Amino acid sequence: MSSFFLTTAIDYVNSRPHLGTAYEKITADVIARYHRLKGDDTWFLMGNDEHSQNVFKRAQEQGKDPLAYCDEMEQVFREVWARLDVSFDDFIRTTDRKRHFPAVQRMAQVCQDNGDIYEGTYEGFYCVGCEEFKPEKDLVDGLCPIHKTRPEWIKEKNWFFRLSKYQQPLLKCYEAQPSFIEPEVRRNEILRFVEGGLDDLSMSRAGQSWGIPLPFDPKSVVYVWFDALINYAAAVGYGWDDALFKRRWPAHLHIVGKDITRFHCVIWPAMLMSAGLPLPGQVFGHGWVFFKGERMSKSLGNIVDPLDAAKRFGPDPLRLYLTKEVPYGGDGDFTWERFEEKYNADLANNLGNLVNRVAAMTERYRQGRLAARGGGSLAGVATDAVRTYADAMDRLALHEGVAAAYRLISAANEFIAETQPWSLAKDPAKADQLSSVLYDAAEAVRIAAVLLLPAMPSSAAEILRRMGEASAPGDLRFDTATAWRASGERGILNAGALWPRLEDKGAPVNEITTQPAPVNPDAPGASVAPAGTPAAAAPPTAPSSQPVGAPSVITIDDFMKVQLKVAKVLEASNVPKSKKLVQLKVDVGEAEPRTILAGIAESYQPEQLVGRTIVVVANLKPAKLMGIESNGMVLAASPEGGGALLLNAEPAAPGTRVR
Ligand SMILES: [Zn+2]
Repeated sequence: MSSFFLTTAIDYVNSRPHLGTAYEKITADVIARYHRLKGDDTWFLMGNDEHSQNVFKRAQEQGKDPLAYCDEMEQVFREVWARLDVSFDDFIRTTDRKRHFPAVQRMAQVCQDNGDIYEGTYEGFYCVGCEEFKPEKDLVDGLCPIHKTRPEWIKEKNWFFRLSKYQQPLLKCYEAQPSFIEPEVRRNEILRFVEGGLDDLSMSRAGQSWGIPLPFDPKSVVYVWFDALINYAAAVGYGWDDALFKRRWPAHLHIVGKDITRFHCVIWPAMLMSAGLPLPGQVFGHGWVFFKGERMSKSLGNIVDPLDAAKRFGPDPLRLYLTKEVPYGGDGDFTWERFEEKYNADLANNLGNLVNRVAAMTERYRQGRLAARGGGSLAGVATDAVRTYADAMDRLALHEGVAAAYRLISAANEFIAETQPWSLAKDPAKADQLSSVLYDAAEAVRIAAVLLLPAMPSSAAEILRRMGEASAPGDLRFDTATAWRASGERGILNAGALWPRLEDKGAPVNEITTQPAPVNPDAPGASVAPAGTPAAAAPPTAPSSQPVGAPSVITIDDFMKVQLKVAKVLEASNVPKSKKLVQLKVDVGEAEPRTILAGIAESYQPEQLVGRTIVVVANLKPAKLMGIESNGMVLAASPEGGGALLLNAEPAAPGTRVR
């Protein structure tokens, strides 16, 4: 098993993540999930960059202690990443005193001991927006070209890092390891920059309290960029656990934005060389996602909140759009119109329709069961798609990888159109041919879903479940899971539309959130809790596997253990001798309706419940109450001191998964 350690840039916490920030984390997550699928011992690191003057100022503006402010922002960031299904293994903050402080102090000391740090006076421009010292030649009309503001002129006693000394070693490294900087356009930029000569770098700031004190000059703090870069080594033990560090370092891949490749391809490897540490395998500088052709910025007021997209359709359509529509390494564009157009084309029409047709026809013609077969023309298409996909993903052409999966999906749709299973079904002599066609289509869908697992983890998992994949997604291994299966029998599940087509804005979608607000606007802050049977416990929450942070955070995998489903109330009656319980008969999209007891009798008359579309926990262990077995639990908001309020679902098909 090979190991794979990848990182993203760590983020300033002076504002919440926007779509551009999310783009980096989502694409890195696709890479991490692909490596896990291959069976690599994958370690995916993210984090927050907190020792910035901007963060300090923002906290002051809000009258908060900077560390308390950073604690709050950590929760904001973690929530966004959880909602977008970003599956980092570790999250580091630069205010982490156990891991990050010792690492930064160790590296500063080692570089100082090597003679690479010396005292001098810095006089020049500094853009606080960039947190960067700006040589005059980088300014445009005296302004920072990114922030369009005049940088501060500062003159202070600083410590300098001898970056100039590393010009030749860096050029040698780029030559010996051509894939160190990707894509090629960035490599050329960096080469030209380094060939032009390197200035020494001021690596400390005087007279500031917000930062990590230099071990050899405690009155100065480490410059925020010198500090931040070290997070990648700090997270895996540098300065505090040598054995761990030896096991994990070097990182195989740093995913960063194109605007900060210079820090990662020049300063960071020079620091590592000075400290005598191995260099990372590769720095990949991705492009930017624009909004209607313009860079998103607070000043332009065109920030897209990734959660707005996730709230409407769940995280997967956004993840797919960003992976498929932006050539990785280049720039891309996001508009709501384009996003909805791609949702309809790629999900509602193409993939969603395919899954539905295969499942519905298998149910109708073969009672939902198919025996495996050798595979005809589609098996060849699948083999090609898998090969193209793996080749693309291995060289980080994520868009080409997803496109390969989509070629298989389109081929399966065409295959159905050509073979016309509905015509075959009319002729008893063609029964065998019909079984073959249905199995081939189902197997092609299953393989396409495996290829889409990294980009659309929960939707692809649901498709796999419907296509009768017996293994849990986390147990699948790329080589075996993408091979055509020619033996065995499987059940195919017909469970309704995955992605209803958007006819116009605001059309109902089948993914809802369990936010209290839309449930009952009259009771803000009401918590959503299972209005359960008194004996039934709350959904199980397994201990979080995340090593740092609040214990109340659960991973998306934990959440996905709870099967929430749309259900339709068929019958309702009071439970004799109980003031609280109502007995419901609900359609959860299964062969038989279920009986569920719900503690909502104080809020609803039975006749008010019949016909409602609600949300239930479908995989709860049955419990017997008042002599009646309850198979599931109903979700409702539970305001303090008030009666339970049912969580209503927009009219989606019973059995639709809620997540
Ligand atoms: Zn700037």
